Amino acid sequence: MGDTKYSLRENIRKAAILLKESKFTTAYTGAGISVESGIPPFRGEGGLWTKYDPALLDIDHFLGDPAKAWEIIKEIFYDFFGQAKPNKAHLVLAEMEKKGMIGRTITQNIDNLHQEAGSKHVFEFHGNSKTLVCLGCHRSYKAGEVSLDHLPPTCRQCGGLLKPDFVFFGETIPELPLIAAYEATSISDVFIIIGTTGEVMPANQIPFLAKNNGVKIIEVNPQESNYTQRITDIFLKGKAGEVMEKLSKELFSPAL
Ligand code: NAD
Repeated sequence: MGDTKYSLRENIRKAAILLKESKFTTAYTGAGISVESGIPPFRGEGGLWTKYDPALLDIDHFLGDPAKAWEIIKEIFYDFFGQAKPNKAHLVLAEMEKKGMIGRTITQNIDNLHQEAGSKHVFEFHGNSKTLVCLGCHRSYKAGEVSLDHLPPTCRQCGGLLKPDFVFFGETIPELPLIAAYEATSISDVFIIIGTTGEVMPANQIPFLAKNNGVKIIEVNPQESNYTQRITDIFLKGKAGEVMEKLSKELFSPAL
């Protein structure tokens, strides 16, 4: 498993053949795909959990002291992440979708960068930070329409508390992406997994289910993950932007 014995070049060539032959490919992405856009992952070196307490994203913590929770949420997700732009990996996936080579993208990310890159069939397992939702009347707002000068922000319609529309620890996964992800495990020929440790439940189960259904697994990551030695067929070791750029040349350049 996790074919690490061949060179990256050889593995990219093999991955491109699989992707060209596949009738339906699902991209499955995690925080690592956005690292080259300047957004750190949660875990590992330079990860957000080396600086912040994960409890800050616990729903009970948020509801217990929304003003305090919002101060850190604003700092991380709006002041800091807010400026990030899609990188080459997001752009190549969008191009592959346009050319019919990616059927859907299932992401654990909340940064909206797949959509900003042009991908249309995106299912967000953990919601999206670019929308805020009122916990009173459920009205939703684009993040840019809401002033974060006074925290916590409140709803213009009912005065209720606004919460980022991403999934906090202790909340359930939205139904639509869950259905789309489970369906993808049975209709795909290939999964391309990019930049995830595979440690966050229940999202991490999706690639295992796909493998059980006979789906071929291509993985892009500078480090081995929970998947590499267990289910990965072709491991493309490296940073998402660099690897996906090389893969796109193999996929889209006319053969010499
Ligand atoms: P993670 O933080 O657990 O792991 C990140 C993975 O990315 C690691 O395997 C690491 O080796 C890999 N990585 C690091 N740099 C990379 C690069 N340049 N190219 C490719 N891979 C690289 O991330 P996770 O498994 O996705 O889970 C964390 C949870 O945190 C997710 O559910 C997500 O909701 C959330 N999260 C989202 C964002 C975002 O929206 N950008 C950022 C941080 C965390």
